[in-house]
Amino acid sequence: MKPILYIVIPCYNEQEVLPVTAPLFLKKIEDLVNREKIADESKIMFVNDGSKDNTWSIIQELSKENSHYIGISQSRNRGHQNAVLAGLMEAKDICDITISIDCDGQDDINAMDEMVECFLNGCEVVYGVRSKRATDTFFKRVTAEGFYKFLNWMGAEVVYNHADYRLISARVLKELANFKEVNLFLRGMVPLVGFKSTSVYYERHERIAGESHYPLKKMIALAIDGITSLSIKPLHMITSMGATVSILSFIAAVWAFINEMMGRTVAGWASTICIVCFMGGIQLICLGVIGEYIGKIYMEVKARPRYIISDRTGDNISK
Ligand code: UDP
Ligand code: MG
Repeated sequence: MKPILYIVIPCYNEQEVLPVTAPLFLKKIEDLVNREKIADESKIMFVNDGSKDNTWSIIQELSKENSHYIGISQSRNRGHQNAVLAGLMEAKDICDITISIDCDGQDDINAMDEMVECFLNGCEVVYGVRSKRATDTFFKRVTAEGFYKFLNWMGAEVVYNHADYRLISARVLKELANFKEVNLFLRGMVPLVGFKSTSVYYERHERIAGESHYPLKKMIALAIDGITSLSIKPLHMITSMGATVSILSFIAAVWAFINEMMGRTVAGWASTICIVCFMGGIQLICLGVIGEYIGKIYMEVKARPRYIISDRTGDNISK
């Protein structure tokens, strides 16, 4: 049986872009249906993220025009990640596969062919990876690439140069629904769910119209969100720093003591230095220990599933 595909598209103040890109998505769906890759019940699902312009009325018009278009609207602006999740969760029970993509035409729609092909060959998650960023400005390219490197260094593992353009099967989405956290960083969470995955490569284009909603400030906020949602490495770093400072302060104390013995100091200097170094080290170690426990509490309150079974032998393979 052919799979039902839902293309999930977050939209925030995109009135200039939607009329241009919506027909492109429709063409892609029709093309895939004609080539008998996906079922005719497949849809393009727009998620209006509390737009302040005419985005929602455009979506309503589109849905009247063609039954492949459908839309949902968030009660207010909640940000890109929440909008994508809302669409995916809405779709997971009525389709077999979803592809999330931005509505601005930056991500190559044609990569969907290969994504669907990968799914038909048994992959449950297919990451869209930008092969190069020739059209991005130098500044955007350097900051964006730095973003992925920094995230990985801080222990938040993400697929390099992959944003939120990806295919996810309904089966994986049902498991993702058990990740109850409210601080969303989807590109870090999806790899945690597991299952067979692969990547397809595409070139990133310029925005068709309108402006980016991700200036540097929001990108830094997203990086901080990503690190703090996925990793407790910053807390481990405090512990290591405490240990280092303690060792250094021990050496400094020995050095101060030697200076004192040789009479090269003013009265009170050595004892002051020793106390300052000692206290600095102790405080950092204490903070680190508290941090380790907070890290554990943090991971516990997320209440993530402890295991996910992907296959079983015999007839009753879970679906
Ligand atoms: N978006 C959203 N809510 C927001 C900001 C952005 O749904 O609060 C959508 C936006 O309409 C677009 C996608 O998220 O479809 C990516 O945003 P944008 O193109 O501005 O980011 P960039 O590609 O520049 O990183
Ligand atoms: Mg964009």
